[in-house]
Amino acid sequence: MEPKRILAVDIGGSKLLTALAGVSAEGEVSFSGKVRRELAAGLGKEDIFAAVTDAVDRTLSLPGAESGFDAMGVTIPGLADPKTARWIYAPFSGIRDFPIGELLARKYNAPVFGENDVNACAWAERLFGVCRGIDDFLWVTVSNGIGGGLVLGGKIFAGHFGCAAEFGHLKVVEGGALCGCGGRGCLEAEAAGPAIARRYAQMTGKEGFSARDVALAARRGEADAREVYRKTGELLGKGAAAAANLLNPEAIVFGGGVAESFDLLLEGLREKFNSDIMTFANKNVRILKTKLGYEAGLFAAASLPYR
Ligand SMILES: [Zn+2]
Repeated sequence: MEPKRILAVDIGGSKLLTALAGVSAEGEVSFSGKVRRELAAGLGKEDIFAAVTDAVDRTLSLPGAESGFDAMGVTIPGLADPKTARWIYAPFSGIRDFPIGELLARKYNAPVFGENDVNACAWAERLFGVCRGIDDFLWVTVSNGIGGGLVLGGKIFAGHFGCAAEFGHLKVVEGGALCGCGGRGCLEAEAAGPAIARRYAQMTGKEGFSARDVALAARRGEADAREVYRKTGELLGKGAAAAANLLNPEAIVFGGGVAESFDLLLEGLREKFNSDIMTFANKNVRILKTKLGYEAGLFAAASLPYR
């Protein structure tokens, strides 16, 4: 691939990260000038734009940025138009019709590439991670929520209305927990971080344990905590099998904070996946952990000028 210097902007729900990414011909990425800003809930477009430009300016003032950059990549936490890097809609923040790409291009006089954050992570996994050379896969993030991104035929598949791969809203428990989308029993409501904490509290009566605390308890060998992760893995496996039966992908990749505990999820996940797939068609589907790590969003942003 063509070596480039990319100003990576990762806009999350509660934080913003910027860095300068140097991408080599071999697809190795090195970051310099990392800047992090918290984003308070309920910020409007002007405040978000001010936070982004402040962070970008800071990144550009740090060592490593002396020779500037070729392009900017921006991950957008919501529905995005990849052609114009326009932020179309974010259901939780209420941001609507925000031409962030255009504004950044004008301010920095550089080409700007934007995409929905999870789609961008999927694309980054193909360029820089475990999906190099894989044309058909589903990328899943499991953290406080659950999202999905699809690469099909070597391209991001966004769906007719831009909302494909809403993996978190596959219904996995009939009449189950209420989801942020208004539905019940969605994977997001049953298997994301808060659901892990809730399941553990229900099972043990111990309140105030986060998904991460439960993972630590599981690693210490606590049976209830291990069971919570096994059960959560089963639900993810149920969703993954439904996706595989529909798409027949080469791989399904798991990322996000909860996927840091992938080893704890894997037994239940594989068991349920194997029992629910149409075996002859999907027995070779690979279940993988992301290689992008904690800073997936920066890799995601850096991948966008290579679309
Ligand atoms: Zn839902």
